[in-house]
Amino acid sequence: MLFTELGLSQPILEAIAEEGYTEPSPIQAKAIPEVLQGRDVMAAAQTGTGKTAGFTLPILHYLSTHDKPAHKGNQARVLVLTPTRELAAQVAESVKTYSRFLKIKTAVVFGGVGINPQMQQLRGGVDVLVATPGRLLDLHSQNAVQFDKLEMLVLDEADRMLDMGFIHDIRRIIKLLPKKRQTLMFSATFSNDIRQLAKTIVYQPVEVSVSPPNSTVDAVAQKLIVVEKTAKSQVLTHLIQSNDWFQVLVFSRTKHGANRLAKQLTARGVEAAAIHGNKSQGARTRALADFKQNKLRVLVATDIAARGIDIDLLPHVVNFDLPQVAEDYVHRIGRTGRAGASGEAISLVSHDEFKLLTDIERLIKKQIPREELEGFEPINNLPASQTEFKAQKPNKPKRNRNRNASGKPGSRPGGKSEGRGSSDSAGRNESTQKPGRRSKKSTSRKRKPGGGRNSSQPGSAGSAAGRRRSGPPRAREG
Ligand code: AMP
Repeated sequence: MLFTELGLSQPILEAIAEEGYTEPSPIQAKAIPEVLQGRDVMAAAQTGTGKTAGFTLPILHYLSTHDKPAHKGNQARVLVLTPTRELAAQVAESVKTYSRFLKIKTAVVFGGVGINPQMQQLRGGVDVLVATPGRLLDLHSQNAVQFDKLEMLVLDEADRMLDMGFIHDIRRIIKLLPKKRQTLMFSATFSNDIRQLAKTIVYQPVEVSVSPPNSTVDAVAQKLIVVEKTAKSQVLTHLIQSNDWFQVLVFSRTKHGANRLAKQLTARGVEAAAIHGNKSQGARTRALADFKQNKLRVLVATDIAARGIDIDLLPHVVNFDLPQVAEDYVHRIGRTGRAGASGEAISLVSHDEFKLLTDIERLIKKQIPREELEGFEPINNLPASQTEFKAQKPNKPKRNRNRNASGKPGSRPGGKSEGRGSSDSAGRNESTQKPGRRSKKSTSRKRKPGGGRNSSQPGSAGSAAGRRRSGPPRAREG
């Protein structure tokens, strides 16, 4: 398939061609037509599959072919929410790149930096606003941004957005948005709980996926090195130096551990910096920029800081500690092997991490090949892994079966030139009612008592998120 077959406008095709993309990636080929049709979309795509362009390109097409609604004030037409500041900056960069031949105003806002310049950016409104949730709520409370005319919402890395910590902010933001809008959720993984929760935010979504959820990127060669816990930092130094590795992204479970490891590596002549939620935004941006430009050999990151970061051709990812939550393993190793490039993910595993390893192998449904390193053989053995895993059931993509009177798929709410299907007319945030029985009245009645952002009743969205993970609460940022 070619990009020209997707129906995107010429200025967008030109920008894509300048990027050197010849054909849409599988997720782009599946998602772009659905977004262009005005449908709500839940797209399960592993990181590195081109999902950012998967939502950005059709959004830009829509914006450039539908006039701005007449209004005054600091309105945003499209809101893209991301879980981390780095990802927000990266998505905004992509939007700017793909819209370089269009008259589109893009702004990005996130915490950790001054709010005043962001307020100025929002003056007079923007077409695309990329934001982290906390700062967005701050800006809204200061009347710096309004959403009355919002047409589209994107949740990027949706599983994390809806995951612990963010759910309340997300619900607060959703309440500020018009019910008639198009909502897109792009996510590396969609667990059942997250899928249920998502359906309270999207309306009759089309689900698209390009690989079974939670499978690991095929291009990434995975292995684990069994080591003694106390020897991990020497082993890592040895691996980097003896293999002459450059651009190594190392994951640490804790901020303190990340700092200590970066210091140890630097002291042994391997230039490293740590990046995590306690670092100032300036330090984070600098470290990441140096790393991307090959000025820094090793970046030691916690999960929160590394989420969604796109580094071209990153060859090595090392799990210094295994993650507490098995799904994070998939996200971590997805930092390498992006966009079809091959990569290597190595985990340093000590005997006390056996339970975490078992969870990961169960999730990815395969054994990770093991090695020991000469001179660093462990004293405490790692028990043998499980050898059989249940076959993974392929996820049937669900189609939107709701059709409007003409038999055509439901149209984009708020879209100017497309008709509005009546079943789209209200209650886009509620998914428990049958299509066609939605009304403004029933929506508002439903949202107040149980569906509020602080709901913690059994079966509520909040409890679903709370149930999902048994690990320690994660850091969040705004
Ligand atoms: P993402 O999954 O959105 O983070 O994208 C991963 C990488 O793939 C980015 O560096 C994009 O620039 C690149 N990319 C996105 N779409 C395409 C495409 N159709 N062809 C080649 N590269 C692409």
